[in-house]
This record gives sequence, structure tokens and C-alpha cells, in this order.
Amino acid sequence: MSLSHEIDKDVYDITIVGGGPAGLFAAFYSGIRNMKTKLIEASPHLGGQLATLYPDKYIYDVPGYVKIPAQELVKKLEEQALQFNPTVILNEKVIALRRLEEKLIELETTKGLHYSKTVLLATGAGAISMKKLGIPSIERFEGKGVYYSVTNKWAFRGKKVMIVGGGDSAIDWALNLKDIASEVMLAHRRAVFRAQEAKVMEIFHSDVRMLIPYIVKDAHGTEKLETVTLINTETGEEITLEVDALIPQIGYEMDNSLYRSWGLDVDERGVRVNGRMETNIPGVFAAGDIASPIDSIKLNLITIGFSQAIIAVNCAKHYVDPSAPVFPGHTAKLRL
Ligand SMILES: Cc1cc2nc3c(=O)[nH]c(=O)nc-3n(C[C@H](O)[C@H](O)[C@H](O)COP(=O)(O)OP(=O)(O)OC[C@H]3O[C@@H](n4cnc5c(N)ncnc54)[C@H](O)[C@@H]3O)c2cc1C
Repeated sequence: MSLSHEIDKDVYDITIVGGGPAGLFAAFYSGIRNMKTKLIEASPHLGGQLATLYPDKYIYDVPGYVKIPAQELVKKLEEQALQFNPTVILNEKVIALRRLEEKLIELETTKGLHYSKTVLLATGAGAISMKKLGIPSIERFEGKGVYYSVTNKWAFRGKKVMIVGGGDSAIDWALNLKDIASEVMLAHRRAVFRAQEAKVMEIFHSDVRMLIPYIVKDAHGTEKLETVTLINTETGEEITLEVDALIPQIGYEMDNSLYRSWGLDVDERGVRVNGRMETNIPGVFAAGDIASPIDSIKLNLITIGFSQAIIAVNCAKHYVDPSAPVFPGHTAKLRL
């Protein structure tokens, strides 16, 4: 890994912004395509959401692995990405993007300037934040019993945990914590879940206490969270339960104003891209959670980011060198 510098006048073929799974896999792939590659990551480590939000959680839907802890997948992605020695810069956030001329883009970061023929935005959740419950009596316990993300699941060993939500994150955490916590409760406002069917089946067959249809009304405690009051959305009945940790997983909010200020087309799902993962700025591509494919569904999943990264890098290669084919051939033919 190189040290960061104030102005790197070297023009790279591709600069990948974001070192989550999409960015890491893109760095590997651009190596395969013999592109001079730089990766800029805002945080002190690589791995994106896997490293920061759920390092200990198992991932079950990456092909080839029945299950793999997130931090282990990050380790393997890093190993794969670094094979071609890309320049990797950590602790530097991209704050502006300017297209100076054909095949010359300037990236301004918190520490300096970088130049590249193409840019791949793989900034994922960088633009999103967890939705809050917005109830003052609950928010006052944030960090003292109320947690919007789980960075160390072992911190919940032996605790009474209540998770709120009916999507994949809520169900995932309930399943991941059920054998660690002394009790796991899942409060959801309705009987319909927006999560993978197999996981929903699993949770109903587990010892997770399902609180349906309930919403959170209030929280109580002195120094830290002690009890949570829920309301039954059908009957209005209120119940108060002893809880050591409340983990709301009720979705994300995306802030796209930064990307809009760079001149990118954005919508409420992210930066708009076509089928080649091109944004409206020539030479600028997007992949992973940040990408909002026009006229197509958007699935915020690791494997979707991988395949979008492949498309973006191959199209970037062809953009930099029109004589190079988009299709790279098969990696089995390459000497790594
Ligand atoms: C609790 C939870 C459980 C999940 N479980 C699964 C699962 O089991 N299976 C699955 O497929 N998916 C799962 N997901 C979704 C998955 O984590 C995401 O789809 C995936 O991380 C997206 O990868 P990405 O590379 O696009 O972005 P991210 O992982 O968000 O990485 C983006 C990176 O870009 C960096 N960055 C952002 N802005 C800038 C900037 N301006 N300059 C420099 N760097 C920047 C960030 O620091 C970050 O490291 C889960 C998500 C959550 C929250």
C-alpha cells in the first residue's frame, strides 16, 4: 500500500472510490485488465459495510461458501484485490470530482488531488445513514442500550436483546444473536416481512420471541436502557418489557446531495447508471450499493456489486483503450 500524498500527478487508468466488496473486486478485475489502478478509501480499513457494520455476522449468499463470517470474506477479497499491486490509499475521503477534459478526471480528497482517466464510484453506504426511530425517550439511550449498528456481536452475550424491523437486517441480527444473547425478541409492526423467505421460515422455527404487530413507543431507564414499551397496532394494548439492548433495523436514508453537486444524475436509490454502469459523466462509472440502474431493479447485495464491478471495469477498459475488447476472456487463461 502506498502512503497518501498531497498531489499525485500520475494519471491512473482507473481510480476506484470506496474499498467495500464492490471496490475491492473492481481493483482485482482492473488488475486482470492490466489497468493502472488506484483505490481511495475514506476509512482506515478496507471492507466497507462488512468490516464496519457486521464483521462477525455470517454471510450465507456468496456463491461457493455455505456460510462465511463477513470479516473473513473481507480478508479474502483484500488478498485477491492486492495481487496486482494497486495503489491503495486509506483515510482519505473523496469530496469533489471534476472532469477536466476527455479522459482526465480530477478527484479532490480531504488530503489532496488525484488524476485518473476513469473513475469507478463504489461508495456504497457512504451516502446512507441508518433510519432512526425518532422518539426522544429512545434516542437519549443511543450507545447506552440503543444501537443502530452492531460492530461486535459478542457484546450482547447473555443480554436481553430486542430487535425492531421486518427486513433482512432485522432478521439477520435476530438469527445471529439468538445463540449469544440470553433472549432475543423481534418487534415488527405487521405480519409481512421484507426478507429472504428461508430466513423468515428459520426465525419462526427458532426460539426468537416474535412480537407482532407491535411498534416501539417509549424507553425507560436511568443511566442506561432498562425497559421498552410497545403498542399493539391492532388492539392498542401496551406492554413493557425488560430489555438490555434495543437494535432498531428499520432501513436507511440516502443523502445524494454530494453526488448531485459533482454533476451526477441521482435519484432516491443512488447514482443513476445505464447497463454499462456508466453515469451521465463520461468516464465515471458506479457499482454496488451506490449504483441505481436505470429501468432495472436494484438489489443491495454483495454479489450484485461484484457483477456490476466487472461490467464497469471492462467498460472502463474499453473507454480508456477503444482497441481493447469489453469482454476480457476467461481468467483461467491468465497467468496470475
Ligand atoms: C446488517 C447488514 C447485513 C447485511 N448482510 C448481507 C448479506 O448477508 N449478504 C449480502 O449480499 N449483503 C448483505 N448486506 C448488504 C451488503 O453489505 C452491501 O450490499 C455491500 O456492502 C455493498 O458493497 P459496496 O462495496 O457497494 O459498498 P460498501 O460496503 O458500503 O463500501 C463502500 C465503501 O466506500 C467508502 N466510501 C464512501 N464514500 C467515500 C468517499 N467519498 N471517499 C472514499 N471512500 C468512500 C466507505 O467508507 C466504504 O468503505 C448487509 C448489509 C447490512 C447493513
